[in-house]
Amino acid sequence: VSDYHLHLFQHGPYDGTGPPPGEYPDGFIESYVEAAAARGVAELGFTEHLFRCVESADVLGAFWEGEPKRDLSEQAAAFVTEDRVLSLDGYVDAVLAAKDAGLPVLLGLEVDFFPDTIDAVLRLLAPYPWDFLIGSVHWIGGWSVDHPDVAFEFERRGVDQSYAHYFELETALASSGAVDVLAHVDVVKKFGHRPTSAPDAYYARVAAAAAASGTAVELNSNGLNSVANEIYPSPAFLAELFAAGVPITFASDGHRPQDAARGHDEVVAAARAAGYENRLRFAERVATSVGL
Ligand SMILES: [Zn+2]
Ligand SMILES: [Zn+2]
Repeated sequence: VSDYHLHLFQHGPYDGTGPPPGEYPDGFIESYVEAAAARGVAELGFTEHLFRCVESADVLGAFWEGEPKRDLSEQAAAFVTEDRVLSLDGYVDAVLAAKDAGLPVLLGLEVDFFPDTIDAVLRLLAPYPWDFLIGSVHWIGGWSVDHPDVAFEFERRGVDQSYAHYFELETALASSGAVDVLAHVDVVKKFGHRPTSAPDAYYARVAAAAAASGTAVELNSNGLNSVANEIYPSPAFLAELFAAGVPITFASDGHRPQDAARGHDEVVAAARAAGYENRLRFAERVATSVGL
């Protein structure tokens, strides 16, 4: 089994644990492999955040500048500026070196979805030998929808409107076929905000779009560490995805070695409960279905 959503550095100011952002000392990637192996997980896919790489600055642009709410745009600008300290080339080289050394790791990337710049992003990424790409909606305009510092926007905008805006983007991402896997596909629930009526119509739309474009969805255990205390996607959402024939991968979204494959038993159990018997393996952006 596998963990196809892992980061090598934590967000925010460097707190002194682990290597400084952008440094990949000997044994660092191996420490993820060992932590995952202790949880029975034998294959890791690294998926660093594209927005954290300096090479993404030109193509993503100052996307927060179109955000009319000043507090949201200022938070996004500060957050991106603080976190954008990695090199895409440095990251790729580190993962490929680990792969060449025989470690069971794949080269992936977590790509932020902005409708206006996704094509330019794909052109930037085309020369690299990705095994798979995962796609995320982290921003609605200039609102960092999964960032606690701006969670007040749920009250200001209204939870129903927040869901509507989020799922409009998630559906567009699912339709685009730009990425291989949709990451934390209902992260809008992260802080426990629930709309007034069940969002089943949104789930069905994303499921249909993913099925049509041949995009998979990850079962991400990090939702269990959030206020929502629920895997991404929810059981109702996963049922829609299964019914639509959308394939799955497993994900911890860990940002430290000790997080690798965290929650693996829970996501596999959720997959089985929904009826899944297979998951995807990736190599050079070609998916193969393998049994759980
Ligand atoms: Zn993410
Ligand atoms: Zn992530």
